Amino acid sequence: MADTIFSKILAGEIPADIVWSDEFCIAFRDINPQAPAHLLVIPRKAIVSLADASDDDTALLGHLMRVCAKVAEQEKIADAGFRVVANTRTDGGQDVPHLHFHVLGGRAMKWPPG
Ligand code: 5GP
Repeated sequence: MADTIFSKILAGEIPADIVWSDEFCIAFRDINPQAPAHLLVIPRKAIVSLADASDDDTALLGHLMRVCAKVAEQEKIADAGFRVVANTRTDGGQDVPHLHFHVLGGRAMKWPPG
């Protein structure tokens, strides 16, 4: 997999406001926040998108979901509620080809998304 902005953040080559780090993933603040709280949770493993994950990644994907909930708790947006989004491939609006989950909160979300 080619280098991406996110692989560079993982390698420490680009700075980021990291709010979570463990053996499997990190979470950091989105540079262009779409809500008062906007975090990105990304695996250390180079997976391009949710559609590119395999059955071997099932435990990792579960872990990433738990971390989404934990960073929401940490950001104090869990009680009011929050949204987790995985933009996937072209029609999903994915810009960065490294799997990531957006965790958005701090305001009421609208539905349907654009
Ligand atoms: P996507 O559109 O791929 O689902 O989301 C990519 C996200 O990465 C966007 O919300 C964008 O603001 C964020 N982003 C892009 N480059 C950087 C960066 O260098 N640092 C951080 N913290 N976020 C970034």
